[in-house]
Amino acid sequence: MERYPGLPPFPDRIRRLEELACDLWWSWHYRARDVFKRLDYALWRDTAHNPVRMLRMINRDRLQWAAGDRSFLALYDSVVHDLDLARTARDTWWAQRYGSTAKGSQIAYFSAEFALHQSLPLYAGGLGVLAGDTCKEASDLGVPLVGIGFMYPQGYFHQHVSADGWQMESYERLDWLDAPIEPAVRADGTPCVVAVPLGDRTVLAAVWVVRAGRVRLFLLDTDLPENVPWDRELSARLYGGNQETRIQQEIVLGLGGVRALHAVGVEPAVWHLNEGHAAFVVLQRVRDAVEQGVTFEQAVADVRRTTVFTTHTPVAAGHDAFPFQLVEKYLAGAWGSLGGLRDHVLALGAYDNGNGNGQMFNMTALALRSAGAVNAVSQLHCDVTRRMWTPIWPDAKPGESPVKAITNGVHVPTWIAAELSKLFEAHIAPDWRQRHDDERMWDAIDALPDAELWAVRQALRAALFAFVRERARDRWTEERVGPGQIVAAGTLLDPSALTIGFARRFTAYKRPELLFTDPDRLARILSAARQPVQIIYAGKAHPADDSGKHHLQRIYKRAMDQGFGGRIAFIDDYDLHVAHFMTQGCDIWLNTPRKPLEASGTSGMKAAVNGVPNLSIGDGWWAEGYTGTNGWLIDGKSTSDDPAAVDAADADALYRLLEQDVVPSFYDRDGTGVPRAWLRIVREAIRTVMPHFSARRMMKQYVGSMYGLKSDPE
Ligand SMILES: *Cc1c(COP(=O)(O)O)cnc(C)c1O
Repeated sequence: MERYPGLPPFPDRIRRLEELACDLWWSWHYRARDVFKRLDYALWRDTAHNPVRMLRMINRDRLQWAAGDRSFLALYDSVVHDLDLARTARDTWWAQRYGSTAKGSQIAYFSAEFALHQSLPLYAGGLGVLAGDTCKEASDLGVPLVGIGFMYPQGYFHQHVSADGWQMESYERLDWLDAPIEPAVRADGTPCVVAVPLGDRTVLAAVWVVRAGRVRLFLLDTDLPENVPWDRELSARLYGGNQETRIQQEIVLGLGGVRALHAVGVEPAVWHLNEGHAAFVVLQRVRDAVEQGVTFEQAVADVRRTTVFTTHTPVAAGHDAFPFQLVEKYLAGAWGSLGGLRDHVLALGAYDNGNGNGQMFNMTALALRSAGAVNAVSQLHCDVTRRMWTPIWPDAKPGESPVKAITNGVHVPTWIAAELSKLFEAHIAPDWRQRHDDERMWDAIDALPDAELWAVRQALRAALFAFVRERARDRWTEERVGPGQIVAAGTLLDPSALTIGFARRFTAYKRPELLFTDPDRLARILSAARQPVQIIYAGKAHPADDSGKHHLQRIYKRAMDQGFGGRIAFIDDYDLHVAHFMTQGCDIWLNTPRKPLEASGTSGMKAAVNGVPNLSIGDGWWAEGYTGTNGWLIDGKSTSDDPAAVDAADADALYRLLEQDVVPSFYDRDGTGVPRAWLRIVREAIRTVMPHFSARRMMKQYVGSMYGLKSDPE
């Protein structure tokens, strides 16, 4: 298919550039990224690393140059060769265990968000990052997984911050010609559009496809001229609108998703629901089976056996619950005359979460009761989930809960810095990426020379500062913001000072202001002579979360406050792009949630694999990740019921760690300027976190203990 009708054709010698740009595989292979960097570095930066957009904008002379440059062609040829290998390899981890044919063992992975790359704004935060990392890892391991979600033309909002620190939200309509996405087609080549019953009407959804190596991600889009205007808007934004919008979105995702997979010829053996948003999948599948003549009881049992559900939040308000009349209103067309199906689904979703609203239709309850396998996303979160949802399994004895723990992991090739990757190639194993979940291989990390490891850490911090400075310059020159905001954007940061990173959604339970419990003590830490410390914040508040916006505003005002000497910065519009620079370039990753409300967290894993130790409350993944020597545990040891007392104790513990341990060891240098003791912690962070908190370990666990597939090696 011709994607860019208005564009002159590429020189034949490099015609597969277009294919390379349209498969997100390039994003997690640094040599593939080099192809685009070499092609036009200025454009690479200007487009925030978006090759599709680059190819639309690039000068034709530059393409002609590339088609004739021997060293460019050598790189291009070897990367295209690697892409072909990645797509067709028959000796994958999956093939060795389950045979090379995907038939009968495909996994459909449903999620409301997918964070694959910043050029596809289909995510808000951690849930999407997990889904994106899962797709990439499935591709690497050869797991026959397809993703299914939404194509939000306006994505999630962009964040700007006003001079008085208030978050402002703006939505941009993505130009699909700038994104690696194409229309999905049926077997006969016609565009794929599915019909979804929504109340007394029918909504159409177009299906798009995104490629990530071996994995395809299908995206539903209701913005079709055949739909009424308000239906066209249904999939416009992620988590936009009210409850009415939300339930309709979830019906489109659940019912439309099943229909879309049929239409494109995917017949999953396993249906994995990432969070409760897609739980209506169950309804559609039971209905399909009954229509094919299966008895109702059998259909329910079959669906249960093949449904896997992952729950993500220990915060009650984080689970969608709808009034029954909304469910009846919008699902009437879905169960039609199948009264048994209606009663069944309503009963599965009925739940009183104790917030005073009585019984509601709870999407998590529906998913928990319909899935044969359920998991939480860390060990601690598993304990909390079992307690939180005990009414769902009234007969389960203690210790017999069906909920398992599969701790999240990050896709290492995506998050690792290229400089560090090359260091591992040279000193650990040339093929370390293929074996990165092998714990024993990482014992070789002691072989990394201190001086080289430190040089890479310094270079990554420098890259972060170059990025921060360019952003500040853009705000100054293009948006004409005032000098105070330019200081808040990080202009006065010192490129050699100990840099603490804190980047996550702004919301009360994450306690973004814990560090400011005693502002004078903090100011003394930040401005200590010869041992300066600085902090970079980033993160969005949910548009409806005013308390989160107030936290953000107070942090922003601190960043502009002369009392802190310009050593606090706030980077706006946190996304995957910012996350890359921050998790690679900071020296310490700070995390201060109110325990046990952080289900897992993954940004700290991204930091650790890059040699950035965590300084964190023992919540989420860190409760099992901290070993005593791979970072720091903030533990105020308060047993009080008063949150303020717990905060004060945790803050004191945090200050003490900084004053007595973190800062001194960072600045303790040998004669050549290398912080030996610090690098021991850096190495331990990499050695312990890389193999275990990788998406590779996680994906293998999902396949082995949740998907219930029989192995069938060749
Ligand atoms: C990794 C990541 C997250 C999730 O990080 P947490 O530790 O769960 O807060 C959120 N947003 C972006 C852009 C990320 O890259």
